[in-house]
Formats: sequence, C-alpha cells, structure tokens
Amino acid sequence: MTDTLPTRAEPVTEPGRVFVAAAETAAARIAPRAADADTKGRMSEESFADLADLGVTSAFVPVELGGLGLSSIHDWALGIAEIARADASVAIAVNMHLGATRGLVQSRQRETADPSVENVLRSVAEGETLICAAATEPGTDNLHPLTEAVATGGDSHVINGAKTFVTMSPIATHLAMIIRVRDDGDQAASILLPIDTPGVEPQDDWNALGMRASGSQSIRFNDVVVPSSAISTIGPWGRWNPQWLMNRALGNISLLGASLGIAEAAFEAAVAAAARHPRTGVPPRERPGVQHLAAELAIGLTTIRLVLAGTTRQVDDFIAAQEGSVPTLAEAHGIMQRYQIAKSVVNATAIDVVNRAMDVTGGSSYADGSPLSRLYRDVRAAPFMQPGAPAEARHYIGRVTLGLLPED
Ligand SMILES: Cc1cc2nc3c(=O)[nH]c(=O)nc-3n(C[C@H](O)[C@H](O)[C@H](O)COP(=O)(O)OP(=O)(O)OC[C@H]3O[C@@H](n4cnc5c(N)ncnc54)[C@H](O)[C@@H]3O)c2cc1C
Repeated sequence: MTDTLPTRAEPVTEPGRVFVAAAETAAARIAPRAADADTKGRMSEESFADLADLGVTSAFVPVELGGLGLSSIHDWALGIAEIARADASVAIAVNMHLGATRGLVQSRQRETADPSVENVLRSVAEGETLICAAATEPGTDNLHPLTEAVATGGDSHVINGAKTFVTMSPIATHLAMIIRVRDDGDQAASILLPIDTPGVEPQDDWNALGMRASGSQSIRFNDVVVPSSAISTIGPWGRWNPQWLMNRALGNISLLGASLGIAEAAFEAAVAAAARHPRTGVPPRERPGVQHLAAELAIGLTTIRLVLAGTTRQVDDFIAAQEGSVPTLAEAHGIMQRYQIAKSVVNATAIDVVNRAMDVTGGSSYADGSPLSRLYRDVRAAPFMQPGAPAEARHYIGRVTLGLLPED
C-alpha cells in the first residue's frame, strides 16, 4: 500500500489485532484461488478451511470457549476488508457467519440464555460449525418474513417457505433464520436450523453478475419439522424492536469492510497500472489525466476509510456506554441511521473508485479474468445488502434525522 494515504485505520483492541492479523494471513492463501472460484461460480472450501484453521471463523467466540474473543465492530470491519482485498465473495460469506456467531454470543449473555448455545460456540471454535444467515425472501422485506413455523399441537413446529440469497449455504452446517410464528399473536422469531434437516432444500441456483463464489443460492423449506423449543421470538411481526434493530445494524456494518477491501484492491491495481512503461511514450502516471484520476481515487479511498472508521468507532463507543443494557428504540434507530449513512457513502464511493481505477488501467481491465473486472462486478452487490434498499434508505435516514421514527 502506498504511504501517501495516511488514513488506514489500525485495530483498536487486542483481540482485533489478532483477528486482523489472522485475516491478513488467510487473505494471502485465499487470493490465488479467487479468479478460479469466480469463473466457476463456486465457493472454495479450502479457503474456508483456512479461515477456520487461522481462527477467523471463531473470532467472536469467547476465549474461554476456544475463540478470539473479538467484540469491536471497528476491528471486525478491518478484518473483513483484509479478506475482501483477496476475494470479496469469501469476505461477505464469512461475514454472515461472524454476524450469526456474534448474535449467539449476545444471546448467551442474557438471563434466559439457552445452555445449548455454549455447545454451538465451542463447535464453531473447533471449526465444525459454519452458520449462514437466512433473512431475505422473495417479494417481502426483512421485517415481514413470510416463511412460517406452525405449531403441530405437540412439541414441534413445521416450517414452510423460501429464502433467497443464502450466502455460504453450500458449505454451511446451520442456517440462522428469521421466520414468522402466529402461536401467540403475530411474531417474528429466529431459529438456528441444521442445514441437513429433512425438508431443507437448497436450490443450487446461484449464478450472478458478481460475488459469484459466495454461494448465495436460494433454499426452500418443505414441511421442515423442528422442536418448538428451538424457536425464539424476537418481537411483533413487522415492527422493529431495539434488540432486532441493533442486531441488524451491527451485523451488517462490517459488510462495508468488503467495500473498503475492494476499493483498496482497485486503488492498488490502478497505481500499479499507472507506473507501467508503455511501448512508446511515458508511463501513464506522467499524464495529467491520470494524475487527475489518481486524485479522485485518493479522495474516494480516504472518504471510505474515514467514514467507515468513524462510524464503527462511534458504534463501539455506544455499545461500551450501554454496559449490556438494551437501548431505547430511538437510540437503536440512531445506530441504524448511522449505519445507513455510512452504507450510502461507502458503497457509492467504492463503486466510483473501482470505476475510475478501470479508467486508469484501460481496456485490459474489462477483460474476463482481469482482477478489476471481478472487483467491478463484486462491488455492485454492496448497496443491495439489507436492511435499507438504496431506494428506501434516504427516506429512512431523513425521517430519523428529523426525529420521526418509522413507527410514528
Ligand atoms: C451477493 C448478495 C449476497 C446476499 N447475502 C444474503 C444473505 O446471506 N442473507 C440474506 O438474508 N440476504 C442476503 N442478501 C440479500 C440482501 O440483503 C437483500 O435483502 C436483497 O438483495 C434485497 O433484494 P430485493 O430485491 O428483495 O429488495 P430490495 O432491494 O430491498 O428492494 C427492491 C425494491 O423494492 C422496494 N421495496 C423495498 N421494501 C419494500 C416494501 N416493504 N414494500 C414495497 N416495496 C419495497 C424498494 O424500494 C426497491 O425498489 C444478499 C444479496 C446479495 C446481492
């Protein structure tokens, strides 16, 4: 990395330093596999074995259960950036697992904690459990899941429905799912479901513009019988509550690290391309047009780094000040609003950085197999990540800014 950009953040916690160093080592192993995985549209199982060996997948597991004891959102995003520089598909996939395990660690701290959570976390630390996040469904938003668990009359429920974009599901052992239950009022609920449960039907249909090696296939649920005790209610269906809002905001901020990593990789590719000696004339870096583009790249990358570091530090400070207590709904919307602002700036700027890096590099960047071509396709996925579709985010940010909560 060039030293003319002084704003790259460093980890702020000791577990974060260990995590980012492990992510860096993993990235060196993952990078050589990225182009092939992208071309084939398949996940690289070796890359996930590396992530488990190096402790990346057990980052949030407490030290006493065999993990790294990570807690900082800031450091989490930095580790994701390291992996995304090598392969953004792997970065978003492992991010889903880390978000789910972070959620389990939070639930373990509650008085009503299910004792089996500890076993799941131990098995994450042993590299035996990999959890993907199944929230999205066709034709509805995350707040209104239509995949439903219906009580059978005994001590089980039956789940029917469908989820899309279930990243990493081809190699995951479990699904962390959001569902609807109407046993006792209309509720949203969560369940950690082993993926080999009868009736869970992966569709092997992931074939997309970018993030091709993320395994984001859809899954159908056809009369899936689960123990009723495995279902935990979240709150009223269709209405955010503080804990749910916080989990969704905190589980997704780190995905912005993938946009940072992509932008850094594109920046480095552009700087290298600008220094190459052409067969005639001077290297592109000597030309005013390329210097202008380099300025735009530097401004863009600096913006991403500062916005991401500033937002994640603020969020870490907020969590520390809460000392484990649940925030108010207004506070939780404040955190979601900060995430939505950062998401909007970081993702739009990362798309712009990759675009301009291609202009510096020229037509070769457009060829299949060019790293910039993959970065260009991958970075376009970022704005879609829920919550907050690009078409919805400004309405939300504006309302919260004016003190008008979505529930008002
Ligand atoms: C590469 C990739 C990986 C992903 N991985 C995961 C994953 O692991 N797990 C997961 O759960 N999801 C995942 N997602 C899904 C992602 O988080 C979004 O949920 C998904 O892309 C949203 O797509 P959508 O078209 O359904 O809706 P949106 O992009 O949210 O919206 C599409 C349109 O619908 C409109 N709209 C939004 N809300 C409403 C509403 N309530 N009523 C009417 N119109 C509305 C919007 O204005 C917009 O015009 C992934 C997505 C991608 C691209």
